[in-house]
Amino acid sequence: MVARERYDVVIIGGGVSGLFLSRLIAEKGYSVAVVEMKPMNKIGEKICGDAVSRKYFAKLGLKEPMGNEVENVVKKVRIYSPSEKAVLTVKGEGFELNRKTFGQRLLKEALESGAIVLDNSYLKKAIIRNDVVTEVTIHDGNRGKDVVLEGRVFVDASGVSGALRTKLPNHWWISEKINASETAVAYREIRVLSKDIEDYDALRIYLSQKITPGGYWWFFPKGPRKVNIGLGVQGGRGLNPIRIFYEYIVPRKVLKESKIVSYGSGVVPTRKPLKTLAFSNVLVIGDAAFTANPIHGGGIGPSLTSAWAAFKAIVNALELGMVSTETLWIVNKLYIEAYGAKQGSLDFLRIFLQHLSDNDLNYLIEKKVISDDEFLEISTTGDLRLSLVEKMLKAIKFIRRTSLLFKLRILADYMKKAKQHYMAYPNSPEGLPKWESKLLKLYRGFESKLSIT
Ligand SMILES: Cc1cc2nc3c(=O)[nH]c(=O)nc-3n(C[C@H](O)[C@H](O)[C@H](O)COP(=O)(O)OP(=O)(O)OC[C@H]3O[C@@H](n4cnc5c(N)ncnc54)[C@H](O)[C@@H]3O)c2cc1C
Repeated sequence: MVARERYDVVIIGGGVSGLFLSRLIAEKGYSVAVVEMKPMNKIGEKICGDAVSRKYFAKLGLKEPMGNEVENVVKKVRIYSPSEKAVLTVKGEGFELNRKTFGQRLLKEALESGAIVLDNSYLKKAIIRNDVVTEVTIHDGNRGKDVVLEGRVFVDASGVSGALRTKLPNHWWISEKINASETAVAYREIRVLSKDIEDYDALRIYLSQKITPGGYWWFFPKGPRKVNIGLGVQGGRGLNPIRIFYEYIVPRKVLKESKIVSYGSGVVPTRKPLKTLAFSNVLVIGDAAFTANPIHGGGIGPSLTSAWAAFKAIVNALELGMVSTETLWIVNKLYIEAYGAKQGSLDFLRIFLQHLSDNDLNYLIEKKVISDDEFLEISTTGDLRLSLVEKMLKAIKFIRRTSLLFKLRILADYMKKAKQHYMAYPNSPEGLPKWESKLLKLYRGFESKLSIT
């Protein structure tokens, strides 16, 4: 006989988003189970750059990382031009996390609030009756057998693999496939260096189409001598990040006589959010819903934000006693207002940057066409204001770069349109097809104006 259990909410994946959501739901007195592949003592381990901005925590009512969850307190980010002759400095506080300890804290908080965590377990299949997921079968490694979990709401928080949503019918809007070109394939190492790092409160990002096509490489200090160093390149180009890392990054002087503490590869979605985070009685959050930042792949804060939005929607539906696309729909507005509109706008910037040459990137950073403050504004709001570009377009001495400046103006225009379009997200599901077709039209218009194929 297959064992059966019943919960109000079943969450697939015990990463940051799944654990945070499970805690919020359990605190409201609902029964919730998290299905996680890893054993308890490995929960939290994840190949990551480990950087997170401070601003998310107060907003989400989540205790800031502290003690041994924090390896380094960050004060700024430096973005280097491909020539490395110029740098943009973006001020902002954040943390270099000990990812595992941070995950273990989220786990502890989930367990203490009453969530059940089924570790060593993975999703096998989902059963759908009358267009509703009624149960999932998991293999529970601890019990050595399959277990059926019935639920009122199911959540896919399984990361980029989208373990649950990819098992759902194609006509369910949340089963949308991701293109490889909308991902970054990455490799990173944690190393102890032989010399102290100068200004180790600064994260460094190096742009270079030559070394990291469609991506960047990073140097994130974890302390005076410890660093998280890695790179991501655009997916779908057949590039091997490990080979690139050993060819271009490892020979750098700073890594001479350094020792590897940890290494590994991963994939991160870098695109617009999934068109809806809810369908029927299923929600999708975190990397499974492509919530990471399209420009730099930072996904911890956005995935926690989507978990918070899902929590509000689930409680709304359970309190109404009716779980449906309609009653869960509020998740979209909440996520879009908190982060998704900015993400949608930044996706246009991502496409723009991925088509720029190293010469153009050098020019933009060296000539301060976009200033440090403007860069900070884009990264916090998704708005691109181009006061200097307008001035430059009028100034004859910069005439050689007018085509780039005109393209920047097109970019600013489309980023604004995209943000406005997200803010006009439909209040109910019927409006989604029309809204989506208008969004896709914006992309086509943008790509044709910039002659991107
Ligand atoms: C190389 C790299 C560097 C990054 N650097 C940063 C950074 O510096 N800052 C930042 O903010 N973000 C960074 N990110 C992104 C960030 O790690 C993710 O956005 C974030 O972890 C997403 O959280 P999540 O909860 O959605 O998914 P995950 O953290 O991926 O968690 C998903 C969980 O689901 C489990 N799971 C998967 N499939 C199943 C299944 N079938 N059954 C049961 N369990 C399953 C997994 O074991 C995992 O624990 C980076 C990502 C990569 C790959």
